[in-house]
Amino acid sequence: RAKKQGRNQVCFFEGEMQIQFSQRYQTEIQLRQSLEEGLFELYYQPVVNPHDGHFSGFEALIRWNYEGAVRSPAEFIPVAEESGLILEMGRWVIEHALAQLARWNDRHGHPLRMAINLSAMQLKDVGLTSFIQRHLEVHNIDPYLVDFELTETALLDECSQNVQTIQNLADMGCHIALDDFGTGYSSISYLRKFPIDVVKVDKSLMPGKDQSHKELSLLRGLISMIQSLELDIVIEGIETEEHECLCKEFNVDRAQGFYYYRPLPARDIESRLFR
Ligand code: C2E
Ligand code: MG
Ligand code: MG
Ligand code: MG
Repeated sequence: RAKKQGRNQVCFFEGEMQIQFSQRYQTEIQLRQSLEEGLFELYYQPVVNPHDGHFSGFEALIRWNYEGAVRSPAEFIPVAEESGLILEMGRWVIEHALAQLARWNDRHGHPLRMAINLSAMQLKDVGLTSFIQRHLEVHNIDPYLVDFELTETALLDECSQNVQTIQNLADMGCHIALDDFGTGYSSISYLRKFPIDVVKVDKSLMPGKDQSHKELSLLRGLISMIQSLELDIVIEGIETEEHECLCKEFNVDRAQGFYYYRPLPARDIESRLFR
């Protein structure tokens, strides 16, 4: 009987998997088409200096305008990664974020920065460096105004091409940021092994309403460690005035969060920030 049940179990999972597989495949087709039809859009979240409230740049965050809804990256980036479509999508992001930065910097008094997220798989793209170089040149952008954000997972795979791409971007003068710091292993070895300039402290480390003394000590310790390594810090997930106060106390001058601005379409950035 056990055997029979085991068999049924297997069949059940196979059925589930088949459905999941075909849903993934559907999504993949929709993503491919959407890329051709121009249904992706970049939203921009301003990066703010907590001390004076001024913004110094943006993070580009992709959105998918599909069937009347704005879909968030969590819904489709994994599929794009699994299918390899992330290479093309990622280049689209780079191209558009850089073009936007150039337009805004033409209008704005002092130079603004742009942060662009990269997937692990994009590091394996041998043509990525020259693609970025070309677009920086086309728009006459100073490379140091651009931050490429990588998560620990991207750094986990230390194959030579990945290391090479990161080194190339750093050699070009772009900044490399370690994203979501504090969520994974947060191995300090990454900070030594790779040419990292910026650490983005993950929003999950921001204390909640019932903040414990431990939480706060952990955050304080992480930040002072990053500062003692002379790396730049961006704190994510600023949602309250208390969070802003912490940034000031830690002497952090780059912060992002709903307290300041949500990620916004380009035209909303222009109407709200470039009045
Ligand atoms: P991330 O790079 O860590 O981006 C920060 C995420 O936190 C964004 O979510 C942003 O909307 C959200 N956020 C900002 N401020 C706050 C806040 O105060 N509170 C809370 N709760 N959340 C806040 P989003 O836009 O949904 O993006 C999720 C993730 O998707 C990003 O995390 C990034 O890993 C990935 N992603 C987004 N755009 C791209 C892209 O163009 N390429 C790649 N490869 N990944 C991307
Ligand atoms: Mg990011
Ligand atoms: Mg992050
Ligand atoms: Mg994240």
